[in-house]
Amino acid sequence: MSESYAEKAAALDAVDELGKLRAQFVLDDAVYLDGNSLGALPRSVPGRVEDVVRRQWGSLRIRSWDESGWWTAPERIGDLIAPLVGAAAGQIVVSDSTSVNVFKAVVGAVRLAGGGDGHGDGDGEGGGGGRDEILVDATTFPTDGYIAASAARLTGCTLRPVTPDEVPGALGPRTAAVLLNHVDYRTGRLHDLPSLTAAIHDAGAVAVWDLCHSAGALPVGLDEHGVDLAVGCTYKYLNGGPGSPAYLYVRRDLQPRFDSPLPGWNSHADPFGMTPDFTPAPGALRGRVGTPDILSMLALEAALEVWDGVSVAAVRAKSLALTDFFLECVSAYVPEGAVESVTPAAHAERGSQVALRCSDAGGVMRRLIERGVVGDFREPDILRFGFTPLYVGFGDVERAARVLAEITS
Ligand SMILES: *Cc1c(COP(=O)(O)O)cnc(C)c1O
Repeated sequence: MSESYAEKAAALDAVDELGKLRAQFVLDDAVYLDGNSLGALPRSVPGRVEDVVRRQWGSLRIRSWDESGWWTAPERIGDLIAPLVGAAAGQIVVSDSTSVNVFKAVVGAVRLAGGGDGHGDGDGEGGGGGRDEILVDATTFPTDGYIAASAARLTGCTLRPVTPDEVPGALGPRTAAVLLNHVDYRTGRLHDLPSLTAAIHDAGAVAVWDLCHSAGALPVGLDEHGVDLAVGCTYKYLNGGPGSPAYLYVRRDLQPRFDSPLPGWNSHADPFGMTPDFTPAPGALRGRVGTPDILSMLALEAALEVWDGVSVAAVRAKSLALTDFFLECVSAYVPEGAVESVTPAAHAERGSQVALRCSDAGGVMRRLIERGVVGDFREPDILRFGFTPLYVGFGDVERAARVLAEITS
């Protein structure tokens, strides 16, 4: 039995057109299924960081803001991320953390909708056109929920947590903005971005999508589906490194009206004019705030080189094949009833991870890691395995399922 799945894995690896990309990453014998928490290190990064530190900073010093392209890095790297999320150039800026960008996007969305109390002073009074409600994914990653709650208080809106399935029924003339996750971080469920965005627009509200668990793993189609605003991190499937800066997408036609709640000198039309009054820069770069974190930013730029010539469609096809094969091996190897998948079986509803409910999941994950199979434990009872198609192979998948079976038998 086990041999036949190992043979099948070898056959799948042999025809995997993305298999050669693994050599572009620093990896060891471990089966690394945690790229949805921290992507592996691309080989292009250490040398670049060395150059940025020693030459650009050490020798060129302040000249590097121009000569090494430091000043324009947020827009330049945004344009490298754009094709991965289906956006034309000029709509994405890289800066700050995802949490901070969620704040910019949700407050910006309420302002675009003409919502809130119209003052932004949080007193809940007066003339915001009646749109005084923000819907947020009730199953969201916590930071998005905390920040949406604060954004609601600041704008004089009410925050209403609903599951993504409940969004169409919850939308109405009071809805200003909706903050949703493309893929649920816990279960790996892929939400229907096209139809939810259309429903949000039909209600006259503004859609904000969090792409943390989809960008780099599956097609997003921001432009195609008319998404208003989006945010995402770069250290998961984009392999930018720990704490690498996040990004903000502002659809081109909304840019002139996008009113960031964090205007900084970097988002000023004339940053070196040093004027007391704020005039926002044109384009996506009004999403910037202050001085960019250049070391992380340029590590990310090097990390994105692995995407040269890689099609997101091929990545998606491999991702689904990997998760299908994992589920197949788990059901063949693991004793009946020991684990239960909470990730949807339907491809249209599945991201690039498999979450298995398991008793003593914390202990099981500890033993998996001891045996070289690295995933995540998520409270209270979830084993979470992320599949990064750029460097995970089918042999890895078979081994992960086999070790899991040994531990749970
Ligand atoms: C990973 C993740 C974040 C991370 O936010 P940080 O500000 O980078 O810590 C936020 N939201 C979601 C949905 C995530 O998956």
